[in-house]
Amino acid sequence: MLGLMHAARTNGGEEVVTVTVAEGVHRYTYGECAARCRKLASALERWGMQQGDRIATLAWNGYRHLELWYGVAGAGAVVHTINPRLFKEQIVYIANHAEDRLIFADLSFVALLEDVWPELTSVEAVVFLCDEAHMPKTKLPKVMCYETLLAGGSDDYVWPMFDERTAAGLCYTSGTTGHPKGVLYTHRSSVLHAYAAALPDAFDACARDIMLPVVPMFHANAWGMPHVAPLVGAKLVMPGPYLDGKSLQKLIVDEGVTLTAGVPTVWLGLLAHLQATGTNLGGLRLAVIGGAAAPVSMIETFERDYGVRVAHAWGMTEMNPLGTVNGPTRATAQLTGEARWAMEAKQGRAIFGIEMKITDDDGRELARDGKVSGHLLVRGPWVVERYYKAAQPAVDADGWFDTGDIATLDTQGYMQITDRAKDIIKSGGEWISSIDLENAAVAHPKVAEAAVIALPHPKWTERPLLVVVPASGQNPSKDEILSFLETQVAKWWLPDDIAFVDEIPHTATGKIQKVALRERFKDYKLPTV
Ligand code: ADP
Repeated sequence: MLGLMHAARTNGGEEVVTVTVAEGVHRYTYGECAARCRKLASALERWGMQQGDRIATLAWNGYRHLELWYGVAGAGAVVHTINPRLFKEQIVYIANHAEDRLIFADLSFVALLEDVWPELTSVEAVVFLCDEAHMPKTKLPKVMCYETLLAGGSDDYVWPMFDERTAAGLCYTSGTTGHPKGVLYTHRSSVLHAYAAALPDAFDACARDIMLPVVPMFHANAWGMPHVAPLVGAKLVMPGPYLDGKSLQKLIVDEGVTLTAGVPTVWLGLLAHLQATGTNLGGLRLAVIGGAAAPVSMIETFERDYGVRVAHAWGMTEMNPLGTVNGPTRATAQLTGEARWAMEAKQGRAIFGIEMKITDDDGRELARDGKVSGHLLVRGPWVVERYYKAAQPAVDADGWFDTGDIATLDTQGYMQITDRAKDIIKSGGEWISSIDLENAAVAHPKVAEAAVIALPHPKWTERPLLVVVPASGQNPSKDEILSFLETQVAKWWLPDDIAFVDEIPHTATGKIQKVALRERFKDYKLPTV
């Protein structure tokens, strides 16, 4: 709450701009936003919301979602951001597990809610994020209108005081295996995270910035951007559901966006649109790319063709979510050519507050030499200690959390993810990085997207299969891709085969769904077997 109140007092005239689902572009100031948060908190208390209650959202990035973040958490309750792209069973599971009392939903999710409603065990009503004129026709038995609810609140609401370790937010991991797991964020962890994220070598955010979180607020807190913007007093631009290249380009130019963040998949769409239309990115100066490895070719295109610096970032739901951001030091800023791209492709240095180490399978710490890779462990004030309602802690006796990622750490502190522990290819006792191979493959001009999975091999245990989506109108041959890869990676890393597909499946957070790909290719026979 502090961040927003600070913005309202010190930068109250600065704008929050939203592209809404059905009501056009909405603009107001931080001052007006803070006043509506007070009304919302008061209205929810009148409705019966208690401190500690879980209040869910199924919503795009927008001003009402922002009001919920600050209004609900400021009143001492917990905002549970549900990812609408999860499977129906997962949404039912997490809403019931969290015991959500209300779901605040955008109009895009009427059908989804009608579908899950009969299986929800704790939700008392759905509140649609619109005014009365836009209320949907629905079979849902208990619905309310957000603006009507808000109108019943008082302007004189006084924010309660409570311990800084009170829960403020709840987010579930997408759970590629087993049930999704909940991570609670406290006011303390979110504020400390926002301080660190705002720093010059991280988001480099200040009051003169115009920030566009493309990453959704339901994907690991939009990486803290909606906390950072009010904290520094930057203008905040919310894209609503419009995340295609054309809409993003227009929004970036029209609103003068200087700073943005999102996963590689959305930038693929944006760059394809720019290349097809010859348009540009106006005054955009920094794009934070994370959630999945940013291909070197993408970093190069942003910087060389559009003059936009890329800050490659890594984190996870369990970390609020930021762990590292790639910013140049005095030494690395001198690098040019290939060496520079290789440095920028790394996931970056730990932001202040996060400690990192890599270990072998027996938990012994490994060298920070930029070569040897191991299990990446993290520790810090915004790293999960215990999953929500879990019996066992999520960290070891010394507080270290095993991220499930495999990484290298170099002498200058730069971390590079080489794989997820479960995706790495174990070939003849050595590891092949599926991420490095994918990056190498997407650098080929005829490749739109690439994924590498391990297939069983009688001699080598596992060998890589490269799955490729050809660029539009292209029909690359296996040989031309293999000979291209030969110039990029060690010979023994070369995939044993290449499969061409129309589409690669993605998870709810836009990552390649390796589990689904492994299922699809489980009977595939490598030619060398
Ligand atoms: P979900 O699976 O729900 O999307 P997270 O967003 O928490 O969960 O995913 C965190 C994981 O995403 C990390 O452990 C890591 O494997 C991967 N990841 C995040 N950022 C990057 C990055 N820049 N490069 C490579 N992998 C990344």
